[in-house]
Amino acid sequence: REVALGIDIGGTNTKFGFIDRNGEFLTSGSILTAQHADILDFLKELYMAIEKTFDEIRTDYVLVGIGIGAPNGNYYKGTIEYAPNLPWPGVIHFTDMLKEYYPHLPVYLTNDADAAAIGEMIYGGAKGMKDFIVITLGTGLGSGIVSNGHLIYGHDGFAGELGHVIVSPNGRQCGCGRQGCLETYVSATGVKRTAYKMMSKYNYPSDLRNIPFNEMTAQLVWESAVKGDMIAINTFKYTGKMLGEALANVVAITSPEAIFLMGGLSKAGDILFDPTKDHMEINMMKVFSNKVKLLPSKLVKNAAIYGASALVWDEMKERSW
Ligand code: BGC
Ligand code: ZN
Repeated sequence: REVALGIDIGGTNTKFGFIDRNGEFLTSGSILTAQHADILDFLKELYMAIEKTFDEIRTDYVLVGIGIGAPNGNYYKGTIEYAPNLPWPGVIHFTDMLKEYYPHLPVYLTNDADAAAIGEMIYGGAKGMKDFIVITLGTGLGSGIVSNGHLIYGHDGFAGELGHVIVSPNGRQCGCGRQGCLETYVSATGVKRTAYKMMSKYNYPSDLRNIPFNEMTAQLVWESAVKGDMIAINTFKYTGKMLGEALANVVAITSPEAIFLMGGLSKAGDILFDPTKDHMEINMMKVFSNKVKLLPSKLVKNAAIYGASALVWDEMKERSW
């Protein structure tokens, strides 16, 4: 039986899974990303983790190809270029480098959020939809735009970088080198930054005040919000406002049927979805009012792994761009 490997490279973790042609998720593994400042070191550990995980199914399956989703990934070239949240500077010829380990296999690479859009389209909640957007909320903010059934890659292959649309001129410093990008406000790191901002602005008592900077996470802010902590609640309201406003602009440009939120931060659920939906509606042109669905991903955290693996199957490929 044939199986494909899907890899999702993230700023914090790199996760992978073996998925068959019918979308059955067989087994998975992960390694830490940021620990490997040296790309060769990273590839070696990734290879070892992949082989170890594949051992679980090796007797029953042949690996027929590899697909990768990566921040600032380029489908046309198989490169990762100037990724703000990865430790490797410049242009990385990632598919070529991974091929050193798998010389006989086809290796494909695309942007991580584009991979998530492919996953949602083929195996998730966007099945049958021709116009939709996925937003991945993790260390950064990624987006995949599907229009008339096709992913929008653009001329150079970097289309859909919603995370780096400037929403506040001279605003927060972004990893991309510019200031005020959406992902500096709306992402796991953005939530952390907003929580500190709220703590300096308001004197509500908050458990978050006792957490040292390097131990603060979006997850902790969410846990406090659930308990009614006003700093945390305001943090999520602000995050949802920033996201909702940006989505209203995206809707004006693309007129999607639905927008899917996924990735670690989307687990915050209603605390994030409610203010996002509100501010999206407030800022949207009347012609779009109450027409665009805001949905959680059906594939939970694995959309990019599913989508990356699907790049391997020829019949899927045609539907992926
Ligand atoms: C990158 C995107 C990526 C997103 C999520 C952003 O910083 O520029 O390409 O999709 O993070 O990982
Ligand atoms: Zn940026």
